[in-house]
Amino acid sequence: MTAPTITLNNGLEIPQIGLGVFQTSPEDTERIVRYAIDEAGYRHIDGAKVYRNEEAVGRAVRASSIPREELFITTKLWNDDHGRDRALAAIDASLERLGMDYVDLYLVHWPLGDPAELAETWLAMEEILAAGKARSIGVSNHLPEHLETVLGVGTVVPAVNQIELHPNLQQLELRELDAAHGIVTESWSPLGGTARPGDPIRNAILANPVITGIAEAHGRSPAQVIIRWHVQNGLVVIPKTTHEDRAAQNIDVFDFELTETDLAAIAALENGVRVGPHPAEVR
Ligand code: NDP
Repeated sequence: MTAPTITLNNGLEIPQIGLGVFQTSPEDTERIVRYAIDEAGYRHIDGAKVYRNEEAVGRAVRASSIPREELFITTKLWNDDHGRDRALAAIDASLERLGMDYVDLYLVHWPLGDPAELAETWLAMEEILAAGKARSIGVSNHLPEHLETVLGVGTVVPAVNQIELHPNLQQLELRELDAAHGIVTESWSPLGGTARPGDPIRNAILANPVITGIAEAHGRSPAQVIIRWHVQNGLVVIPKTTHEDRAAQNIDVFDFELTETDLAAIAALENGVRVGPHPAEVR
């Protein structure tokens, strides 16, 4: 099963489902990325410097049977790499760890608080694009004011804004703003994030009776219903798992369709509850 693609504002195609590798050890990353590509049909991996597994992503990609140019690899500029010089050094270091000449998408992971610094970082992202080290550049966790800074200083419109997005936090206004600028919205923590023992919030959406009821009606798992919801909303979605059966299941969502009634029931699950930090609080 491979996922269909969405065309970014620079003409590049991004597979609508990718494998997220946050909170995944290097050993698990190498195993699950290799499985995802070779066995489950993934062509898109969502990584970051701060996940500390770029080397493992690179090893899995090189070991896979799929040529590099058929894969879509994302990594992200971490918070201590803002500013021109650090940003330019950060992409080189990421490429070195990945063992790659380029990434398909390089994202500013968090905007932080300082517009002047963000503007400088974005101009460095444009240099990275021009140098061919990233085939596209984008942002993550950018609120309207951050997008205004980036759009105001730059000549390249971000290809993507990757934000927390799941049935409890549907981000309708930010999605509209992204779309108005030709920016594709990507959903992080699409299944409600990874719960640690005793955590009542993260991952709770998978047990929500509305979701489990729809899942039962379609003969699918709750995760498949939520991933299908992202897909039918035109979002790019990057669920994380270290389990092979779940990796296969999470991309196997292209032979059923949620009804208008299903979509309306999921729309009603919005409650504004975040599972990750609010971008305005990350400094
Ligand atoms: P997700 O919402 O993808 O949820 C992951 C959790 O769901 C894990 O506990 C996983 O368990 C479980 N899970 C996965 N598939 C299934 C399934 N089929 N059935 C039941 N449980 C399942 O969480 P993340 O926070 O990891 O978000 C996904 C990705 O988004 C990240 O990996 C990262 O790439 C990106 N991200 C980006 C951020 C940013 O700031 N830009 C912030 C956070 C995430 P298990 O692994 O044990 O299978």
